[in-house]
Amino acid sequence: MKWIDRKPDISAKSVTEFLSGLSVLPVLDLLSSSVESPHVLISDSVRKTVMEHISSNRTESGGLLIGEVFSLDDLNSGVVAVSITKAVPSQDFDATSVSLSMGPAVWDIARSYVTKHRFVVGWYHSHPDLGAFFSGTDRKTQAEFFNQEYHLGLVIDPVRDEELWFVGKDSLTIPFSHVWGGLSELAMV
Ligand SMILES: [Zn+2]
Repeated sequence: MKWIDRKPDISAKSVTEFLSGLSVLPVLDLLSSSVESPHVLISDSVRKTVMEHISSNRTESGGLLIGEVFSLDDLNSGVVAVSITKAVPSQDFDATSVSLSMGPAVWDIARSYVTKHRFVVGWYHSHPDLGAFFSGTDRKTQAEFFNQEYHLGLVIDPVRDEELWFVGKDSLTIPFSHVWGGLSELAMV
């Protein structure tokens, strides 16, 4: 198993770019509530990619999430929202009760999509009929490989139709009120 350990040249986008299409009240609401947890935007097409991938596997499967980070400050502080633009399914996802790993191939594929403002913002995996929760192993994976303030962890149980989102090295739960279908949904608030 090989994970990315070098620092690519990536940076956050200005939050003004993100908020420009929204009216004043939602903007204030988004900014104040992002102190507690960043907002997540996931488009229908990305969600479809994830659901098709995990629904076709009876065992645990997963992959990487690529997107953009909107911040008041930088990648390490003041993160207001993470917008997921692409899901990269891992074809060699190995899940047992003691270990859980994605092979190097998915990182290579993900890397081909990386630009200054688009990069790996998290990971997703499934818990078929086990319920959506983060196991001890999942928390360890999050802490070890997805430990930045903007790093998301999505777990889905496609059988029970449950999902949960986590963020950062301590796997903090993201409230459902912070998960949006996409920018268009946000603009309608
Ligand atoms: Zn898990």
